[in-house]
Amino acid sequence: MPRPTTPEEVLQAFKDGNQRFVEGNLQRREFIKEIEETCNEQHPFAIVLSCIDSRVPVETVFDMRIGELFSTRLAGNVVNGDVLGGMEFATNFSDAMLVLVMGHTKCGAIKGAIGNVEYGNLTGLVEKIKPAVELAKSEHKDGPEPGSNEFTDLVGALNVQLAVKQIREQSPELRKMEEKGDIMICAAMYDISNGKVTFYDRE
Ligand SMILES: [Zn+2]
Repeated sequence: MPRPTTPEEVLQAFKDGNQRFVEGNLQRREFIKEIEETCNEQHPFAIVLSCIDSRVPVETVFDMRIGELFSTRLAGNVVNGDVLGGMEFATNFSDAMLVLVMGHTKCGAIKGAIGNVEYGNLTGLVEKIKPAVELAKSEHKDGPEPGSNEFTDLVGALNVQLAVKQIREQSPELRKMEEKGDIMICAAMYDISNGKVTFYDRE
C-alpha cells in the first residue's frame, strides 16, 4: 500500500482499509517486520478518537499496520483537554494529517447518557454526551423513540459530529491547521453488526 501524502488520501486509505476488513480481504501481516521497521521512529498518518468498546478494535477495522495511526480511546469517544493535547501533538509534532472521531452503534456510554446514569466518575463522563442527547430530542422530534436502539445510534452519530465541532472550537491550533488544508477533521460511525464504517466527511 503506498503511503498517503494528503489528508484526502489518508481518508481514502481509511475507507479502503475498512472495505478490505468488511470483505475479509485483509493485508498480509508481518508483525515482526513491522516492529523492526518502526522501532526507531514512527510516522503515523492519522489520529483516531474512539470508544473503549471491546468490539471496536481500531487498527483492525481499518486494516492498519503498526506505526500507522495514533489511537485515543475513551468511553463514548468524548473530547477533553488531554484528548485535544494528543491530537495537537499527533498533527503538529508528528505526521498525522487526519483527525478521525469514530463512534459506534449500540454504545454503552451513549445508553448511559440517555438513561442519566449516576455512578462514580461515570456521572461526569456521560455529562459530556448529554448535548447530543438533547440535540436528538430537540432536532429529531419525528425521529426514533428514546429507549430504542435507533435512538441510541442517532445520539451516537450526533455525538461524533458534535465532537468534531468541539475540536474546532476548543483547539484553535487544530482549526487553523484544518483551514490551511494541512489536516482534515472528520466524524465516523462503526456498525458493530457488520463491521462497516460510515464517514461523515461530506457534511
Ligand atoms: Zn461505546
